[in-house]
Amino acid sequence: MIDTSKQGKIFLSPPHLSGNEWKYMKDAIDSNWIAPLGPNVDAFENELAHYVGAAGAVAVSSGTAAIHLALILLDVKKGDTVFCSSLTFVASANPILYQGAEPVFIDSEPETWNMSPEALKRAFQEANLTGKLPRAVIVVDLYGQSAKMDEILALCNQYDVPLIEDSAESLGSTYKGQSCGTLGKFGVFSFNGNKIITTSGGGMLVSDDLEALKKARFLATQARDPAPHYQHSEIGFNYRMSNILAGIGRAQLENIEERVATKRLIFSYYYEELSGIPGLHFMPELKNTRSNRWLTTLTINENITGISSNKLLHSLTEKNIEARPVWKPLHLQPLFKGIKYYPHNEHSLSDQLFMTGICLPSGTNITEIEMMRVINCLKDTLKNPAKIG
Ligand SMILES: *Cc1c(COP(=O)(O)O)cnc(C)c1O
Repeated sequence: MIDTSKQGKIFLSPPHLSGNEWKYMKDAIDSNWIAPLGPNVDAFENELAHYVGAAGAVAVSSGTAAIHLALILLDVKKGDTVFCSSLTFVASANPILYQGAEPVFIDSEPETWNMSPEALKRAFQEANLTGKLPRAVIVVDLYGQSAKMDEILALCNQYDVPLIEDSAESLGSTYKGQSCGTLGKFGVFSFNGNKIITTSGGGMLVSDDLEALKKARFLATQARDPAPHYQHSEIGFNYRMSNILAGIGRAQLENIEERVATKRLIFSYYYEELSGIPGLHFMPELKNTRSNRWLTTLTINENITGISSNKLLHSLTEKNIEARPVWKPLHLQPLFKGIKYYPHNEHSLSDQLFMTGICLPSGTNITEIEMMRVINCLKDTLKNPAKIG
């Protein structure tokens, strides 16, 4: 038998260079634009805004920084509350704490794994009764899938609360033909190393409100007042993206549609091989939406398979395959102990997704042979659940 543990490591979602990175970086270096501003930054902002169909964009040092700026622009401050999806990466909610505000977490619903409009409705109703509506809502588009935006926007509009769409994982995804990240007042993208396109680290804030974006640029460059000397009347941040990294981003963005197609193909490949196995359920795609399928994700029903998602993850790790559990919901994190939480119904769906869900290697540079290695490992383990220690 082949000792697969000796085979090369398969990563979850490694960076994938697309070809022109060096050209744009070289332009930056040749022209001495090594600053957190410059032609690549301007072009990357314009190209991304154009691609998603937003009026404008501001390139920043991370997706987290973009969320932070959106909260500041919406005047979120100490004593305020912000409603936020619970099933997400901690970066969705950390900026709420930066502002001294308090998050309130909202559960997922089964058709998108994203914010439950039912739970959101209850949260709004209770907040309204106590006379303390949230200052903003942060909705996450998880693993490339948009949330139920019509229902969520209707509730936000009813209570006149602005929406921030955290599309860090969902560049290239659409909701009823409209790009994810453009459905709320502000949208956020991330170009961290594991995202569908990367600048090694970076983010983008998008909006149709150009005045607000102008303010975001001001805040992201230390809030320097228009004066010949260095004068400051507000707290500023050093959040701008470097012109070199924006060059990488421009090259990566050229291939975004191809990337989405590849991610979707990876999903189909896993789906065809594994969806027939009783007890396995792949993350759904809501009708009239296009998920970029950033990560292929599925749940394992231990009652049917006889093996838990943890044990399955363990067997993948043993074969040098990087897979991950679904995000641990934020309402379960020690950091957010005691924070208010609204489950979807009498059950908390995000708890269940966390306990049963795994993300499979989904890098756009994965090979068919590597995918077969993942599939065979899963099939072997599921066939012999008793063999796993
Ligand atoms: C990656 C990610 C972020 C943060 O982006 P960074 O660029 O790493 O700061 C925020 N929200 C979600 C859902 C993410 O996956």
